[in-house]
Amino acid sequence: MSKRKRSGITWLVTAIWGLNVVGLVGLLAGVMYFNAGGQPVSEPQILELATAGTPSPTSLPEIYYLPTITPNPLTTPIVAFTPTPLVLPDGPRPIVIGYSVSGRPLEVYVFGQGERQVMIAAGIHGGYEWNTIALADELLIYVNEHPEIIPSDVTLFVLRNINPDGDARAHTKEGRVNDHGVDLNRNFPENWQAEWDRDGCWDYAETTGGSGPGSEPETKAVVNFLSSHRVKALISYHSAALGVFPGGEPWDEDSIELAKALAKVTYYPYPPIDTGCYYTGTLADYAVSLGAAAVDMELRNHKDTDFKENLRALKVLLNWK
Ligand SMILES: [Zn+2]
Repeated sequence: MSKRKRSGITWLVTAIWGLNVVGLVGLLAGVMYFNAGGQPVSEPQILELATAGTPSPTSLPEIYYLPTITPNPLTTPIVAFTPTPLVLPDGPRPIVIGYSVSGRPLEVYVFGQGERQVMIAAGIHGGYEWNTIALADELLIYVNEHPEIIPSDVTLFVLRNINPDGDARAHTKEGRVNDHGVDLNRNFPENWQAEWDRDGCWDYAETTGGSGPGSEPETKAVVNFLSSHRVKALISYHSAALGVFPGGEPWDEDSIELAKALAKVTYYPYPPIDTGCYYTGTLADYAVSLGAAAVDMELRNHKDTDFKENLRALKVLLNWK
């Protein structure tokens, strides 16, 4: 190693140590300056910031800001499993075909195991037409006790409550829609319309047809069920008073025949009373589109089940060819 190179290294070592000394002296001067009362950050200020909830490395914030949620005014909190539970002693357990907006089950009872499938659906207008659900329960209890009324070639499906959220909300006009404010009998994907002329139509509370055809979970459950079975005849129960409406637009021929046969044994009006309403997206229309004879049938009022009349109607349905 040459002498010249060694003197260069010595110079470099000296320079580094010199810088270190300068740095240490500067640091010492700074510390002395703050200790002498320069401009230290005072303790009370630190405490104030901490209690205001400002995040700091040593303390967790006391207040958490969460996104705000717009409450659904139609929500029906689930207190019981179903609003009006039905238990058939020694009877069949229902099949759950889907769930409502608020998570209540849609239950179908099955009797018989014949090729010919017929169906009763009740409660599509929820608590407003709660007596249709009460009727379905009375029919279920009767059929369970008298299984011999089911012909050997027939399977009977009973969907006792299509709109359990509406039934749970209120047994008044407020109970008609589901928890999205949708009239389920305007939500089916046949003749569906977003809006309709309310002249002559039910208009006692705010309703919609849904955000699209079959948008609602209750509707989807029924659509899935009907499209995966071969139901030949269907009664969708309502109340009150207008009579028996054949499904289809225009009215389907087989459904007209079914409506007439049902009107004959129940004394409900046929042709039904025309209030001038044009009905869109109904369950009966959808069932007709799948090849069933289907009707919307109205009980006499909003409180009675008309059991005797509807037992005769059930026999017409069970024997429908
Ligand atoms: Zn109705």
